[in-house]
Amino acid sequence: MKGIVFDIKRGVTKDGPGFRTSVFLKGCPLRCVRCHNPESQCPKAERTVTTDEVCGREMSDGEVMDEVKRDKVFYASSGGGMTLTGGEPTMQAEFALAIACAARAEGVSVALDTCGFAPWAAFERLLPVVDLFLYDLKCMDAEKHRGLTGADNAPILGNLRRLDAAGAKSWIRCPLVPGLNDSDSDLAALRDFVLSLRNVQKVEICPYHTLGLEKYVKFGRQVPPGVPTAPAGPADIRRWRQDLGLGIA
Ligand code: SF4
Repeated sequence: MKGIVFDIKRGVTKDGPGFRTSVFLKGCPLRCVRCHNPESQCPKAERTVTTDEVCGREMSDGEVMDEVKRDKVFYASSGGGMTLTGGEPTMQAEFALAIACAARAEGVSVALDTCGFAPWAAFERLLPVVDLFLYDLKCMDAEKHRGLTGADNAPILGNLRRLDAAGAKSWIRCPLVPGLNDSDSDLAALRDFVLSLRNVQKVEICPYHTLGLEKYVKFGRQVPPGVPTAPAGPADIRRWRQDLGLGIA
């Protein structure tokens, strides 16, 4: 089984518990105004215009696993494992499934980092081989969500409800952008939704930063209108933590 991978990072200590290897699959169905990885959006390999590097290469599940297995000893001692991320890994659902099955066969724990915008069938197939879902919740207001990502949030919320009802463990990630999705009502709706779920282990805030902006230039793309040019500050983050509650440290 082959797919397009744009990066593999070893020694990652976010993207799930313990010491991890993150495998970045290319392609994403959303177009978030705050995207930190715009080079991940196109499903095909592409060249940067400023440095003429290639982003994305075809790999087999076996080749990916050869990289992932190198740190197996550290996963075991730290409670870590492999994280499939992107982009949106369910855009290459069969490839993601093949890698996850291979990891499980090696005794490597699997996390799936997802925006949630995929047919339920993709999650249903991945569910038995994924130990932890890292699930983005960007905005509960449907209209606002369309403006922020170009897509409806109904399938995202529906998939998370179904995963949760099926007993899937999740960490909820909230990519918050000052002035765009952090009003009092945004935070209250987010909190209420998370509290309605039963298998959420952790809630994380992912504060907006501007590192993605230079990547648009690098790949010869227009920065989307409305992208903030200043990162979230400490005061924003303090307010979000306080207003969301939910045990966020
Ligand atoms: S879901 Fe992630 S990768 Fe996809 S556009 Fe949004 S921020 Fe970028």
